[in-house]
Parts: sequence; C-alpha cells; structure tokens
Amino acid sequence: MYNNEINIPSLLKIGSGKIAKIGKYLIDRNYTKIALFFSDGIEGLVADKLYPGLEKYNISIVHKDIISDINIENAVHTAFKIPSETKVLLGIGGGKALDYGKYCAHILKLPYITVPTSVSNDGFCSPNTSLLVAGKRKSVKSTIPYGVVADIDVIETAPKSSLYSGIGDTISKITALWDWKQSFVKGFEYFNDFAGLMAYNSLDIIYLCDKLKPEDHEFKYRMVNSLVLSGIAMEIAGSSRPASGSEHLISHALDNVLTDSKMHGLQVGIATYLCSFLQNNQHEKVKDFLLKTGFLNFIEKDPVNKNEFIKALQLAPSIKQNYYTVLSEKDSFDKAINFIETDSILKQIIK
Ligand SMILES: [Zn+2]
Repeated sequence: MYNNEINIPSLLKIGSGKIAKIGKYLIDRNYTKIALFFSDGIEGLVADKLYPGLEKYNISIVHKDIISDINIENAVHTAFKIPSETKVLLGIGGGKALDYGKYCAHILKLPYITVPTSVSNDGFCSPNTSLLVAGKRKSVKSTIPYGVVADIDVIETAPKSSLYSGIGDTISKITALWDWKQSFVKGFEYFNDFAGLMAYNSLDIIYLCDKLKPEDHEFKYRMVNSLVLSGIAMEIAGSSRPASGSEHLISHALDNVLTDSKMHGLQVGIATYLCSFLQNNQHEKVKDFLLKTGFLNFIEKDPVNKNEFIKALQLAPSIKQNYYTVLSEKDSFDKAINFIETDSILKQIIK
C-alpha cells in the first residue's frame, strides 16, 4: 500500500530549555487557545518552565486534563469536550498522555504537539497511537504530530527504565528492516526505499556507544533524533514496517502473556537481541550495543519469566495476519528455544 499523503512535523525542537519557549513557538503560529494533556504527576515537574512562557505571550489554556488511562472510548469522549475555539492540542509527559492526546487531535483534525518528558519509545513522533481497545492494548492509526518539543533537560530527569526502553526501541530497526526487506523479496509487500533509508540512518547512534554513555546529554539528544526519524519513516512508508517487525510481534505477545509486563522498549530490546540471531543479521553489533549501553545489565536485575517468554514466542507469529517476519520460518521457534537455553546472555535475562 502506498501512502499518498505524507505529513512531517513542521515544528521540531530538540535541546535544552525548550519547554520554556513553547509560548513563543505557539504565538509564532498564531495558536493562542490551547488544550493541554498531562501525564499523571508531570504538571508539577514542568509548571515553572511552561506556564511563565505561555503567560508571556497571552496563550490561553481552554482545556486541561490529567491522563491516567488510555481507553479509546474515554479519548473519544474527551475529544468532544474540548471547546471548539481550541487551535492546538499539546500532550506533555510519558507515553499515556501523548497517546491519548494524539488520538483526540486526530479525531478533531486539529494540530498536535508532543512534549515528551521521557523518551521510552518512538510514539512521541509516530503516526500511530497505543490505546486500550476492548481491554487490549492496540496500535491505532492516528496522525503524526504537527510538532515535537523535546526538552533534554527534562528528559534527563526521567527514570532509567524509560532511557533503557528508548534504547531498546531504537535498536529494533535492525531486525524490523530485515523482516520488511525479506517480506518484499518474497513478494509479499512493497518496500519504500526512502523510508528504509531513513530508518537505517536513524541507527547511527549505534556507532556512538564507544564514545558516549546513555547518561550523557549528547546520547539522549541523539536518541531522541533517532526516534523522531523512525516515526517519520513510518509515516513515509504508510505502515509501521520500518520500525516494527518480529521483535515487536514478540513484545506484543509478551503484553498478552506476561503477568508482570515490562516497558515496551525493554521487551522490544530483548526480542531484538534474539531476532537478530535468528535472522543471522548483525547480531554481534546488536549485542555490543546492548552490552555497552548497559541495557542487558539493566534487564538482568529483573529477568523475564522463561515459561511465559516461550509462550509469547509461540503466540508472536499469529499476532498479525499475512505478515512475514523471521518468525514465519518453520525452524525459527526451535532455533529460538535452543538459543534461549544455551546463550550465556539470554540465560541471565530469561530465567
Ligand atoms: Zn516500538
């Protein structure tokens, strides 16, 4: 399926002190009446940076919500409560508020600006939104944000788990791109070269792990950039293919199976390690990156239950219909089990 309409964020600000400048970004675009969505506990964290900037340019907040759930029906109800004078919606926080606000803006056909305060996946700049549909977490087609304002000073204060989750979601392009390319080679779907190139280039961060540590400001800056590019690659492709393949199928299956599921990018990172081995695709590079960034050490402290992981592995190929990935290959399951039983790293993180 070709994407006939491609939207790319017009407002893209990544760096220090960006939240304080939101008022200026809004007034420059004549967005004077705004609706705000905060993740639970985030308003206090950003209030002294955000509000003076809004007041300075007389931006009025005509609707404000604190988001603690991601139920699609609630998002629809909220959307219709937003006053018609609203010019733009802003989602500020981690995953939930960003997803919820994105869907409200999509329904109302209003521009949407995400202000991620932690970067645990590529959702802050993707055309999809992760919501609860009939009690199950689903990726729902939405609209790519009009703007992204990522204040690295604030992102730096986020918990380590979200940083490692961001690392896992970043590295997943390696296996996602392999699955997509193979699916094309086998004649199942088209491959968009530009989207592929963009997603591949977003992996530049891998070559920085010798020089930078995840705690470094520069590393986080690069990671945000990388996740922005992968979101745009999805928009260009008209599907999630450039950033989601076998490793995401395993993560979706883990969401259904694990009694104690982990953050999206943490699950995706573990699955990328496994799937790059199954694909015989840059496995050493993936391993090196996940070791040097401390991702694998972080997972080791709270390993995944082995029986549940294997159950998810069985379920994963059936998560999406007519969708080729390395997991569609007959011998993949046995190969994966063997690897889980014998690989010294997996033995530490899947127990
Ligand atoms: Zn993801």
